[in-house]
Amino acid sequence: MTAVPETLPPIAQRLRIQVAIAARSLSLGGHDDFNQGQVSARIPGADYFLIKSAVTGFDECTPEDVIAVPLDHKAPASPMAPPELPLHQAVYEARPDVHAVVHSHSPYALVFGASNLELRPVSHDGAYFEGCLERFTMTSNTILDMETARGVARALGGNPAALLRNHGSVVVGKSIRHATVHAHTLERACRLQLIAEQIPGGYHTSTPTDVMAKREFIYDDLSVRSYWDYCVSQVRRRWTEVSSWTVGSSSRAA
Ligand SMILES: [Zn+2]
Repeated sequence: MTAVPETLPPIAQRLRIQVAIAARSLSLGGHDDFNQGQVSARIPGADYFLIKSAVTGFDECTPEDVIAVPLDHKAPASPMAPPELPLHQAVYEARPDVHAVVHSHSPYALVFGASNLELRPVSHDGAYFEGCLERFTMTSNTILDMETARGVARALGGNPAALLRNHGSVVVGKSIRHATVHAHTLERACRLQLIAEQIPGGYHTSTPTDVMAKREFIYDDLSVRSYWDYCVSQVRRRWTEVSSWTVGSSSRAA
């Protein structure tokens, strides 16, 4: 049985600050839906992970609102854990390579997921997801149990994201940086294609050669790090108190 520690070690405290910054960044990217949606991050080697609490919106999240919860769905979790906790547990269970998960109801990905459109490389963003974005259609309801959550993980497969039809999206990454940046990327890819779909006479897309080149250069690890650094700086400009978030200001796990 998993035990969540009473106090978080410094590595988890640092990650908790990053999760809170990621939440604020998602808010700036239009991912707010009251207090719904979550961002989570796995701590290497630990049997618990960090997730935005149930009652906190992306736009108001602080490190204290990011709580530690068990990876094991059978272990008791904090009453502040979000109802869609199983979604995150199922993705971490299925994908050892994934260290962060964003689930949101962002409008353009949600509307795109309601359609039968295939994501096309209209923009750089679309190039990242072309051919690796499936839809979860088992239910459009909130993901409340492990059986349904494992269905989401199956729809995700080895891909960086999945659309939850009439619900939202799930974006994953090997770090909180990757998951956050690509949650922005997916929303923008869906938005730009939905705009392009309105053009009478159709539209052009990037060639397969360009798609490969874009994935290698525009979305390589160094680039993703620079986009994350931009996101952090944007959040700090919007909310000046973020600069005072430091390791040790609070170590309580929940
Ligand atoms: Zn949801």
